[in-house]
Amino acid sequence: MIDLRDVRFEYTQGGFSLCVPELRISAGTKAAAIGPSGSGKTTLLNVISGIACPDGGRVNTASVRVDSLSLAARRSFRIKTIGFVFQDFLLLDYLDVLENILYPYRLHHDLVLDADARARAQRLAADLGIDRLLRRSPDELSQGERQRVAIARALVTAPKLVLADEPTGNLDPATKQRTIDLLFDQCDALSMTLLMVTHDHGLLDRFDQVVDVSAFGGSEP
Ligand code: ADP
Ligand code: MG
Repeated sequence: MIDLRDVRFEYTQGGFSLCVPELRISAGTKAAAIGPSGSGKTTLLNVISGIACPDGGRVNTASVRVDSLSLAARRSFRIKTIGFVFQDFLLLDYLDVLENILYPYRLHHDLVLDADARARAQRLAADLGIDRLLRRSPDELSQGERQRVAIARALVTAPKLVLADEPTGNLDPATKQRTIDLLFDQCDALSMTLLMVTHDHGLLDRFDQVVDVSAFGGSEP
């Protein structure tokens, strides 16, 4: 599902570079990405998803050579193939919670907002404990509630790959467990592959694979 070779990425202003000689994550795997703050976890997810384009090497995600696509093709690929839980959620305050969850359907004509999709959104909201908030604006929610909206939005299209950037970072312990259980159950039920950034080392034995990003990232003077 994910196959990176000799990947190099550097921000244009310099200061940080990511070098990944090899990273393979098979379909159906639940993988954790770990590493201290600033080690390049978010950058790695961006490279895998095509948000960031590498300076060298090959990025193969869901059997697509993402690094050789145009910007528009990368965006289209990402919307169709990947459910992304962004570290800062990226919810839209001018839409209500339900519209935020269903937002991917506005972005790509291949994603059809039918009765099944609406039922999935309702079901995810109920499972995540946010179903009574569907008509609110995201700016009327707590951080933990916003985080769960972002998770529902990432899962609603039943994507092949879920990239989740610290998706439980703002949740209390009980909600955290419930959210992880839901993420894992959804991955099993829909045969999704999961790559999830976490700082919670107590969770690591639940994953099939652990990727230590600090081995890839480096700061330059
Ligand atoms: P992590 O997610 O592990 O905390 P990031 O991937 O966000 O780490 O960042 C890795 C390094 O890249 C950090 O030193 C950060 O300051 C730098 N960085 C992140 N985003 C940008 C950007 N858009 N432009 C320049 N440098 C960035
Ligand atoms: Mg990060």
